Amino acid sequence: MQDISEQFATFKDCLARRFIGQPAAGADDTSDLNDFILYLADEVWPFLPPVLREASYDARDKLPNADTISLDNTPTSFVDTIVSYGLSSDNDAAVEFLRRTVHDYITQTSAPPPPWGTTRTETCELCQRAVPLTYHHLIPRSTHTKVLKSKWHPERMLNSVAWLCRPCHTAVHHCATNIELARNFHTMELLLEREDLQKWKGYAAKQRFGVIQRK
Ligand SMILES: [Zn+2]
Ligand SMILES: [Zn+2]
Repeated sequence: MQDISEQFATFKDCLARRFIGQPAAGADDTSDLNDFILYLADEVWPFLPPVLREASYDARDKLPNADTISLDNTPTSFVDTIVSYGLSSDNDAAVEFLRRTVHDYITQTSAPPPPWGTTRTETCELCQRAVPLTYHHLIPRSTHTKVLKSKWHPERMLNSVAWLCRPCHTAVHHCATNIELARNFHTMELLLEREDLQKWKGYAAKQRFGVIQRK
């Protein structure tokens, strides 16, 4: 039975982001990425430790370390699917794939919510959902010195931002390093030309949970 919690939605997003970054994730196989990721997440979620399934910012101190957590119970349906899609070479690698996904999930669920006043509600420039947004520096701040020194972009462009929802913002940073973003993906148009972000966009647009909401 499908879990409808926010944690499940977050885990599913983490899985989708891992998946779209893989060269084996061919377009034909993922014509309905959402169904595929939902299937995978559904298979493995009940077998994750309860403390993970209840992860939140408030409970962040209880969260285990993804590197040492036991994933011995990972169901064969999950492992077999990961291997048969060429996402991992063997069963051990499939469990490692899951471990990296769990790592992303722990990072995301334990992150503080965006401070009030730094979000605004309209539509995300990537998935087009009307959800609270964060701003993404199209030329990440940590790269500004290098950008100017290397004359990649004029100074006036340094502070351009895109308004993205939390999951899309994470997806953007997941697909390229800050230097790559600064140099080659410094506009929304360039980001949207990426195949992995197109896949992500198609997936994200279907999700109910747009952003971590705190009660
Ligand atoms: Zn979005
Ligand atoms: Zn950003």
